[in-house]
Amino acid sequence: MAKADYYETLGVNRNASAQELKTAYRRLAMKYHPDRNPSQEAEEKFKQINEAYEVLSDTKKRQIYDNYGADAVNNGAGFGGFQSGGFSGFEDIFSSVFSDMFGGSFGGGFGGAKRKRARRGNDLQQKVEVTLEQAYTGIEEEVSYTRIDTCDVCHGTGAEEGSSTKTCPTCKGSGVVQFSQGFFSMRQACPDCGGQGTILERPCKACRGSGRAKKKNTLKVKLPAGIKEGSVLRVANGGDIGTNDGGYGDLYLQVAVKPHKIFERDGNDLILNAEISYPQAVLGGEIKVQNLMKEELTVEIPKGSTDGSVLSLDGQGMPVLERANKKGAMRVVLNIKVPKKVTPRQKELLEELAKTFDEQVKPTKKGLFDKLFGWFL
Ligand SMILES: [Zn+2]
Ligand SMILES: [Zn+2]
Repeated sequence: MAKADYYETLGVNRNASAQELKTAYRRLAMKYHPDRNPSQEAEEKFKQINEAYEVLSDTKKRQIYDNYGADAVNNGAGFGGFQSGGFSGFEDIFSSVFSDMFGGSFGGGFGGAKRKRARRGNDLQQKVEVTLEQAYTGIEEEVSYTRIDTCDVCHGTGAEEGSSTKTCPTCKGSGVVQFSQGFFSMRQACPDCGGQGTILERPCKACRGSGRAKKKNTLKVKLPAGIKEGSVLRVANGGDIGTNDGGYGDLYLQVAVKPHKIFERDGNDLILNAEISYPQAVLGGEIKVQNLMKEELTVEIPKGSTDGSVLSLDGQGMPVLERANKKGAMRVVLNIKVPKKVTPRQKELLEELAKTFDEQVKPTKKGLFDKLFGWFL
């Protein structure tokens, strides 16, 4: 039987790079792996793929193969594993190729114990609530929250005081365990010691050996003048601690501004509702209002102001974030107040006024007698 072309077997061209070969091999090996594809044909194909990859992934063998063909490689280079039917030859390539695919869980295949992977801590979120006045001035706020940090009892070692580490009995210190899958065996990072090769003699009770525990953290955070509802501030390293020196995550502070009793905020502007009387609306005049910092301001009411007119006072609004000298406006919304009660004199005047406009108003309230008997008269 003529030998299949190794490049064809892997579905790559003759100039394929090492990475292209690896990718092609992975794809095919997954497809024809006897565990996934138990047919006789797949098994045969799987052998061919491995044979092809074994040769082409080795620069020297690939060169011999390119120049002299498959037989030259298999005989000349002393490589005969597949012909004799044994699979020991490719066990290692298989696990090494797949090791980076499974995030290193194969433990690199050949090495002994290796360092645990460093992982950065989680980012955290925390709400900070401020008043509108605090948002105006800016504030240094103390923020307390709980995060995962180094265990105070064992200082992060995970071991109980006085105890140390011992060789992992599962992997006998190698950090790697071997197991059989299908008809060949694989190596994997030891699940009991996580590939470290050592385990804790007596784990710290406070953190169950993790070296990390929940702790209260208090930070002083500067919230700048003009800060807005929904603003998010990042505090670098304010989050949970990572594992294996992976460092802290960040803390994200979400700013909430409490509603104000008097002022409503619209971007950098503050809105104030002010009441004026009907004569003030008609004739114009002045009213006194307070800004957010309780400073008294005089507002000029133009004559002929209608209900809902808006007067804008520049520079009396909120500071513009990061441009503290610049402020928005205070928008004064005029509401014409209608008194529920008037004095007899005011009533008289209003009736007079109505007459001048030729308006019908309700006649002056009569006495009790008239009220009761007026209907008959
Ligand atoms: Zn501890
Ligand atoms: Zn172990």
